[in-house]
Amino acid sequence: MKALCYHAPRTITCDTVPDAKLQADTDIVVRMTACGICGSDLHIYHGEGFSADLGYCVGHEAVGEVMEVGSQVRRVKTGDRVMISAAVGCGGCAPCLAGNVLKCETGGAGCYGLSHALEGCQSEAIRVPKGDFNVAPIPDGLTEEQALMLTDNLPTAWFGCVGAEIGPGKTVVVVGLGPIGLMAVEAAFVMGAARVFAVDLVAERRAIAKSLGAEVFDAADAPAGIMEATKGRMADCAVEAVGADATINLAMQLVGRQGIVSAIGVNQTRKFDFPMALAFVKTLTFRIGTCSVPRYWPAIVPLVQSGRLKPERFLTHRMKLENGAEAYRLFDAREDGVLKTIMTA
Ligand SMILES: [Zn+2]
Ligand SMILES: [Zn+2]
Repeated sequence: MKALCYHAPRTITCDTVPDAKLQADTDIVVRMTACGICGSDLHIYHGEGFSADLGYCVGHEAVGEVMEVGSQVRRVKTGDRVMISAAVGCGGCAPCLAGNVLKCETGGAGCYGLSHALEGCQSEAIRVPKGDFNVAPIPDGLTEEQALMLTDNLPTAWFGCVGAEIGPGKTVVVVGLGPIGLMAVEAAFVMGAARVFAVDLVAERRAIAKSLGAEVFDAADAPAGIMEATKGRMADCAVEAVGADATINLAMQLVGRQGIVSAIGVNQTRKFDFPMALAFVKTLTFRIGTCSVPRYWPAIVPLVQSGRLKPERFLTHRMKLENGAEAYRLFDAREDGVLKTIMTA
């Protein structure tokens, strides 16, 4: 089968690899019908991946059709149309059963496409461990594209907003307006934010945030602009959706006293120069981490079904898997107004 594989920095190519197959009687194999490239995949593309492996298949966002099920699989059958959670759990422990895959007690918590341990989703077919737990049927009324956004990006944006404790009347700043940052802008309004400031270096991305109702700033102008717009109070909370040290620092500047910063971009800095004095004076709360995808489906699936959240509007490019090398180049270069690229087999 064809799959996008990581070989070296800036070298992700479409290769022929052995077909995905059942390895345990609780596994399923899903034929990919659409997969996404995530901002975190760019870390791998840049050679800053999460393992030392080479030649593994990348990607952790996909929807598809179940091709094969192991003998112990009960809930899923061949032919089902499913979305695959990027966050993988054992499905049997108490936290998994509550949807909190990150606290999986069996060591089952993981993600596709970071090493050979669990091959990625940018592939014609995907082996899903614990198939009864790690996929869900595509919800009624949702398109394949909407479902794809539910495998990682939209739950992550929602998780970032939950971490920022956004609620009615809050003043929010979102730093970084890639697909997840833009979804956070939309989610913040749905959660009741009174004002959302949105910060990015790219004018086209600011324009989209503005169309969602945000007040937008270039990064350099954001501190003074938000100071003026809030009469010195600054934002109640920040969602940081880049993961760079500079943008995390910026987010900490843009919130006011007792502000909350919720960072959801991948950051692999070993030693971060945390502005302790600023945090102390402001009495800041700082959160960082990854999203337990299924935990947020009960809240956001109905919001997508009702059209209150429209994650599909951030899809800009549709390409074939065999053109994956170009898809990565384009996304990395932020050319052609690219936000979210989906690939089909
Ligand atoms: Zn991701
Ligand atoms: Zn578990």
